[in-house]
Amino acid sequence: MSIKFFIRTFGCQMNVADSDTVAQQLIEKGFSLTEQLNESDIIIINTCTVRQHAEDRAFSYIGDLGQLKIKNEKLKIVVLGCVASRLKESLKKKFPYIDHIIPANEIEKISEILKKDFYYTTSRTTNETFSEFITITRGCSNFCSYCIVPYVRGPEESRPVIKILLDIEKLTNSGKYEITLLGQNVNSYNFGGIDFADLLVKINDIPEVKKIGFMTSHPKDMSDKIIDSIASCEKVSHRIHLPLQSGSDKILKLMNRHYTKEKYLSIIEKLRKKIPDVKFTTDIIVGFPTETDEDFSETLEITKKVGFLSAYTFKYSPREYTKAFSMKDDVPMNIKKERLARLNALLKGN
Ligand code: SF4
Repeated sequence: MSIKFFIRTFGCQMNVADSDTVAQQLIEKGFSLTEQLNESDIIIINTCTVRQHAEDRAFSYIGDLGQLKIKNEKLKIVVLGCVASRLKESLKKKFPYIDHIIPANEIEKISEILKKDFYYTTSRTTNETFSEFITITRGCSNFCSYCIVPYVRGPEESRPVIKILLDIEKLTNSGKYEITLLGQNVNSYNFGGIDFADLLVKINDIPEVKKIGFMTSHPKDMSDKIIDSIASCEKVSHRIHLPLQSGSDKILKLMNRHYTKEKYLSIIEKLRKKIPDVKFTTDIIVGFPTETDEDFSETLEITKKVGFLSAYTFKYSPREYTKAFSMKDDVPMNIKKERLARLNALLKGN
């Protein structure tokens, strides 16, 4: 009888991709994936700590699992991801029934860790399906002042080209021809001198691949060479996610983003010139410390100018360890809410 595992994922596409990696690895070792929480032998929770709200949701979920552990003491509960990286073993003080805590940058160890819990031989299941995400970089070295990712996922590391190409081969062999390249900042990919622009060309040349998407881009690293590759590779998607975060140069500087409003708009212009049907999506934070009405108006102005297809919009919330944590969170909540509502209305075209 094979050992069944269940995965619940909180957070971003990187976490979704990490959960896929974990699932694939466990299946290769003979475990089988189940969608039924109650019939699982192992429950894996892949957590996110980018915002307090995401962390609270994961805590509430883990809290509910205590009852299952009382009913079935053989059940193994594993917490992965950014909350595991941030809180490490102290998580066990809060939830003593957690069996394993595996930080985001150590997920590859999961099958070895779980193998020690289950001594008997497991049978292999081969018909599971996976999403077409392919991680090309792990971690981040940018230290945007509001973001906890570099602290919990460690410095940026580009995966070897050969490993990426082998992953793509596995996907195309299993009938998946559309892939999305993932990383906190895919634009700064570089392995042995092969940069992101080169990687796009290499993948575009694989006959079995039909469509290539990528996320997330960072405007500071969106070079002319990358723009040329996007334009010349016919399989690369014309929908580009380019986080803006703020339209105010003052706020962008405080956020440590390393670009200005002008630079952002010039990238948009260059891409539009080369790819007339290009569409943009973005991320925007409102209510960052010291954001005035004028700063926010600049965000609205650039949002209108670009005409984003959609956007992930957030109210700023301070995260421990980050540089912005030491700044006074001085935009009152009612103002943050009001700005968010105005921004969302604009994005919806109201
Ligand atoms: S680029 Fe900035 S926002 Fe994105 S993960 Fe890195 S530090 Fe966070």
